[in-house]
Amino acid sequence: MPTKKIIIEPDPILRKKSESLEKVDNELRKLMDDMLKTMYAAPGIGLAAVQVGILKRLIVIDVSKDDNKKAPLFLVNPQIIYKSKNTSIHEEGCLSLPGHFAEIERPSECHIDYLDYNGKKKNLKADGLLSTCIQHEIDHLDGVLFVDYLSKLKKDMIIKKLKKYKKEVDKVII
Ligand code: ZN
Repeated sequence: MPTKKIIIEPDPILRKKSESLEKVDNELRKLMDDMLKTMYAAPGIGLAAVQVGILKRLIVIDVSKDDNKKAPLFLVNPQIIYKSKNTSIHEEGCLSLPGHFAEIERPSECHIDYLDYNGKKKNLKADGLLSTCIQHEIDHLDGVLFVDYLSKLKKDMIIKKLKKYKKEVDKVII
């Protein structure tokens, strides 16, 4: 299971809308395994397929804090069917925006429909960190990043720093 390269903002692919998947087969399960490995290695608690360059509606998540009790969640074609009026604020980061964090307000609870690792229809009621993580990842599938919720000034500053960071990283590789 190779790990995949995570795409860093700014990159136009991160702004594209991902397409629904038609079926869950072995090829897709292999991608899910690779994405999970990539996410654990990063390390992160959520990864959308677009972040590894694949414009499909697929997400892997694991918000368990205990390394010995991993609880991966594979969400294929996730759809939010309910969002609470109550909101909560979490400090969010993103594997595509390394080193940057911001407090983001989102509905505290969300319910989703999705297909699981075996292609079975499932329903999940999420709150707390899991709810935030699911909403952050589904945003990725629609080309939205957490910085889009910030003021233009803050957002521009972060993107500028990331541009510089990407240049530095490229230099090292050359
Ligand atoms: Zn992210």
